[in-house]
Amino acid sequence: MKRNILLSRNISKFIGVFLLFTLTSCSPTPASPAPTEAIQPPSETPLPATEITIPTETIIPTPSPIPMERAQYTLFAILDYAAKKVEVEESILYPNKSGETLNDLLLAVEPNYWPSGFVLHEIFVDEVPANYTLEGQRLIIPLTTPLTPNQSIEINLRYTLNLPFAEQGDPSVIRARIYGYTNRQVNLTNWYPFVVPRQNGEWILPEPWYFGEHLVYDAADYEVNFKTNDPAVVVAASANAESNAEWTRYKLEAGRAFVLSASPEFKVFSTEVGGIRVYSYYYPLFEIPAEEVLNVTAKAIELYSQLYGPYPHKSLSAVQGDFNDGMEYSALYFQSHGFYNTYDGTAQNYLTFVSAHETAHQWFFESVANNQADEPWLDEMLCTYSERIYYENYHPEAINWWWAARMFDYTPNTWVDLLVSENPTERAYWGSSYFHGAYFLEELRARIGDEVFFAFLKDYRTQNAQKIGTGDDFFRILREHTKVDFSDLTIKYFRAPH
Ligand SMILES: [Zn+2]
Repeated sequence: MKRNILLSRNISKFIGVFLLFTLTSCSPTPASPAPTEAIQPPSETPLPATEITIPTETIIPTPSPIPMERAQYTLFAILDYAAKKVEVEESILYPNKSGETLNDLLLAVEPNYWPSGFVLHEIFVDEVPANYTLEGQRLIIPLTTPLTPNQSIEINLRYTLNLPFAEQGDPSVIRARIYGYTNRQVNLTNWYPFVVPRQNGEWILPEPWYFGEHLVYDAADYEVNFKTNDPAVVVAASANAESNAEWTRYKLEAGRAFVLSASPEFKVFSTEVGGIRVYSYYYPLFEIPAEEVLNVTAKAIELYSQLYGPYPHKSLSAVQGDFNDGMEYSALYFQSHGFYNTYDGTAQNYLTFVSAHETAHQWFFESVANNQADEPWLDEMLCTYSERIYYENYHPEAINWWWAARMFDYTPNTWVDLLVSENPTERAYWGSSYFHGAYFLEELRARIGDEVFFAFLKDYRTQNAQKIGTGDDFFRILREHTKVDFSDLTIKYFRAPH
């Protein structure tokens, strides 16, 4: 039944493209790809062939395959808000950009960490039912026909997500999760299977640790069609909403992790900065901190766009979490509920600097990704230091306060470049990746000067945009910008030689 929907969508797509080429064949240059708006929403009934009139003299061009730079994810998801259940149909067009022939695919399936959390009904590869193994977060699909370099493959999945109660510190999961539901919201984070990056002949899917993040993402294009059975529910997402018949459609180009957050209680403030739509989703009675989140986010977008290069998407949503944790995703971040409670109306508080921090992740995490398990310092160090840059530009009188408040309880007897899993506690993890990293950047900046420092940061972002940056990239590009000797700093802060 549902598979028929997938098939009929494919048929509709084909007919849509077919019609487009037929109808525009009189135009001198009809070769642009079919706009997705021309694709019909899922329909049980394919368009009858009799509706297509083909003049006998018309030459129907054969659509030539468009070389794909990135994987393309198309999802249709229906949220039953009361039942905390999501029905999903997902299509992945995956181009093999690894340079090697692939005999299998590895997809990350985070919802499968919960018992009955991920119920897979069907999986097809190029329209043929596929064999697979699913264990923990690892969905392995052996390919009957190896996938050669630059060849693409289509994977179709249909599944049900039974959302877990996202209890902080839940011992049944390895880390307090955001994914799932709370009393006041449903959060779909890392909720769909995705093909993990392939590097040096290996699939990259680290295991989670008790704190920090572990996933590594290729950039991919997303079209997410979403609806819920509860008309009161307000939805925050990784892209601006648009209408697609009975669906709400979101499109995100070159994103890492498409996220939705839904609550019947959400209110929203919105503004625009440099053509970027900024949203602040919040709960009633939190108008004042929600406005601060909106303003800090907009100002940070403006500042970081100047310093690091253009913001990578068309929107950014800040969402008040119904939990005490901040977290970044594509064009959306969660802000810790506790910081709304403690906001005192000044700029000298956690709500302000964590908003600046999470916004910076849209450059370092989102535009330039990194291995969050093995090199968490790459994005966390840069985003923590971006807080300092935010303050020096907008609240220079608060710089000393920021260093003291942010580095509270920090001891420098560590290395910046520890794996997440090498830290005994979350506090130690912040100390190494975030705080020690920020001190390194402060000393580096003083050594090489502001002009070189910011030219380097912009170049690090530019050279690695839509890629997965590494520590080696960081230091290689840094040395392209300066001949100043900073080897004593790398010896002081880093375990690995740089
Ligand atoms: Zn961070």
